Amino acid sequence: MNILYTIGDSLYINITNKCPCSCSFCIRKEMDGLKGSGSLWLDRDPSVSEVVDELKKQELNSYKEVVFCGYGEPLVRIHEVVEVARYIKSISNVKVRINTTGISDLIHKENNTARLLVGCIDAVSISLNAPTADEYLKVTRPKFGAEAFYAMIKFSKYVKENIGDVAFSVVNVISDEQIERCKSLADEMGIPLRVREKEE
Ligand code: SF4
Repeated sequence: MNILYTIGDSLYINITNKCPCSCSFCIRKEMDGLKGSGSLWLDRDPSVSEVVDELKKQELNSYKEVVFCGYGEPLVRIHEVVEVARYIKSISNVKVRINTTGISDLIHKENNTARLLVGCIDAVSISLNAPTADEYLKVTRPKFGAEAFYAMIKFSKYVKENIGDVAFSVVNVISDEQIERCKSLADEMGIPLRVREKEE
């Protein structure tokens, strides 16, 4: 199973396939993996020591960044993510980023789980996906309902204040007008927005 994969000069960690969402643009329904990644379907979630064993085979400082970005939501395994990120920080200077839905408070039924990332994660990319809770529900389809949108906004504010390097993303499956409203929301929060092409 592919725990690690590379795209360009970044190293990706595929820590889980579990996800509480069912995004309309999710490529998992159509594809086994990304270009060059091999299959990203895991037989099971790898243990922290299995991830660390794979990382030991890599020259981490040769990468631009290491990214937690599974075929799933990495923060389903927030405690393992933190453990692995701390290990990476202990042996290298490489930047550590996470791509997330930002709804880990609902996943773990715990307030302010974002605090766990401070000090071991350098950058956070958060899927904004839509400008309002109703529209978010249609695109992201989280099992928690509309509450997920507000949890994601709260998570993003905390990360902005306490980690600093944060970016929102939307996929161009929503309309230009919706993207404009996402930009306004992102601007209000002082967070840059990246508009991504849907993977084909
Ligand atoms: S959060 Fe990511 S893995 Fe989960 S459904 Fe959406 S695109 Fe797919």
